[in-house]
Amino acid sequence: MRWTRFFIPTTKETPKDATAASHVLMVRAGMIRQLAAGAYSYLPLGYRTLRKVEAIVRDEMDAAGAIELHMPVLQPLSIWEETGRVEAMGDVLLRLGGPEGDWRPNTVLGPTHEEVITEIARAYLNSYKRLPVNLYQIQTKFRGEARPKSGVLRTREFLMKDAYSFDIDKPGLDASYQKMYDAYCRIFSRCGLPYVAVEAESGPIGGDASHEFMVMTDAGEDMVAISQSGAYAANLERASSQAPAAGQGAVGVPEMEEVHTPGAGRVEDVCNVLGIEPSRMIKTLVYDVHALRRDGKKETEWTGWIVALVRGDHEVNEFKLAKVVKAALPNELILKFEMATPQSIEKLTDAKVGFAGPQGMIDRVDKLVIDRDVAAMRDAGSGANKTDYHVLHVQPGRDFPVSHEKAVVADIRNVVEGDASPVDGSPMRLAKAIEVGHVFKLGTKYSDAMQATFLNRDGKPAPLIMGCYGIGLNRIVAAAIESHHDENGIMWPVSIAPFEALVISLDPKDAEVSAVAAKLHDELEAAGVDTLYDDRDERAGFKFKDADLIGVPLRITVGRKALDEGKVEFSVRSDGVNHRMTPAEALAQVIRQAHGAR
Ligand code: ATP
Ligand code: MG
Repeated sequence: MRWTRFFIPTTKETPKDATAASHVLMVRAGMIRQLAAGAYSYLPLGYRTLRKVEAIVRDEMDAAGAIELHMPVLQPLSIWEETGRVEAMGDVLLRLGGPEGDWRPNTVLGPTHEEVITEIARAYLNSYKRLPVNLYQIQTKFRGEARPKSGVLRTREFLMKDAYSFDIDKPGLDASYQKMYDAYCRIFSRCGLPYVAVEAESGPIGGDASHEFMVMTDAGEDMVAISQSGAYAANLERASSQAPAAGQGAVGVPEMEEVHTPGAGRVEDVCNVLGIEPSRMIKTLVYDVHALRRDGKKETEWTGWIVALVRGDHEVNEFKLAKVVKAALPNELILKFEMATPQSIEKLTDAKVGFAGPQGMIDRVDKLVIDRDVAAMRDAGSGANKTDYHVLHVQPGRDFPVSHEKAVVADIRNVVEGDASPVDGSPMRLAKAIEVGHVFKLGTKYSDAMQATFLNRDGKPAPLIMGCYGIGLNRIVAAAIESHHDENGIMWPVSIAPFEALVISLDPKDAEVSAVAAKLHDELEAAGVDTLYDDRDERAGFKFKDADLIGVPLRITVGRKALDEGKVEFSVRSDGVNHRMTPAEALAQVIRQAHGAR
């Protein structure tokens, strides 16, 4: 492809709000153009890379035995009502507007396709003889993301590969899941992404029911914990650490002592006044819970208080806490669970916000949820349940109960840097990451809700056992740039580069230079190498800048000086070192490296 006949609107302009390298570089390289918040056009160069990613994804899905289909973006609201996901999705589910009675208010733009695929499955997959099967599509999704950001990393319209497996039993699902997991590893390796698969929140199935594929980079919005040994990696939402050693009991701990701490409601201020480290403080967090309480056949509305305790240097993990609370309230259907309002806190503690403590709480709250590390503390500080006062020498088990029908000891905190991994005790580090893919064992969540059953070997109806597997294609492109760039531009892995090779003519007005360059381009194309030929009548420096920016990995530069010696220059974008060689040698190099990368 000749540059002068293609469309690569490179620009020096950087979007004002752009901080992620992929965002800046994709705009500057003329790959994408924003149309509206969260909606981007893929310009020809960007589209070439997107299509290459798509080809790799399709290739691996096909190789794994998944079968491609295509489902509509327009979906009736009614199937979302069947699964009860209208509420759960909230504003993410985009609904069309229109007058009442019109078709539009009953139509949504698909953010994902579990409902649609299950509708298909219940129509056709009605015998064990048709199973297992895995159906996938590569298709545009729409989500009402509140804050689209970082270029194409988070948009309201994006391309997803979503696959759905259907099995007759749990071992079947495990096998289908493993196939997808392995295919994902191959996809991300082929795309040149330094990825890790981490344990993710798995919902109702538990165990190893969900993994996210993460690319470590500061541009990511997710946080993952990885052990130094490499044996453990988990999303922060789910990551746990080894349980602390049991506490040493109250022996030798002085009686509680009140200390005047005026205005010091925050942990760091209190620690300054008390002269102790945050790790010796107990943070007392109050939550309001609103639920429907089932009592025999009766259901009554109920509101209560949950108090959670974590060490002063730890943060509550709201996902873990919510799970513990749900398990601790088996007869309640929780409608709302959130940080208590200041009024509610004052009512519970008789003190202003910032002075709550666990002592004496057990009689007033509905559940006292104690983090494992708090239960193991000795001689701690905490709020005094009295405005402007804290207490020293608080001893778990003595000054508040740790075993009590209303007390639960559990892991309810976020792991922190240096925590011991739960599998081998190796210290963990925390890193930001981009989620590029997600595999999930759904079980019967959707088949139950939508009555998608099959007749098993005994001729009895049973719900289909499902898995779902998503990959964000646009995120792969952006994550690849986040992992492969320098201050001058993108450094594409050959496999997903918009062009594999770039031939630059430094002296386009020189007939011999142009002839050699054009010939190299034609020969590369003939050898099946995607080649861009910069035939523009521009200064060498300008061309090199653009070349570095768009990041074509393999480059041959043809100029008068070297050609006088019968040579051209070959270089690789990622190291930038120029090697002089004959055109024939350069041709062979590029072909070898381009083909080698496939
Ligand atoms: P996130 O937590 O980042 O919002 P998600 O967990 O909601 O993503 P899934 O429903 O698991 O995403 O979708 C599968 C894949 O689709 C994700 O792993 C990601 O690669 C991609 N994806 C999801 N949301 C977006 C988006 N708004 N823009 C671009 N890609 C997305
Ligand atoms: Mg996800």
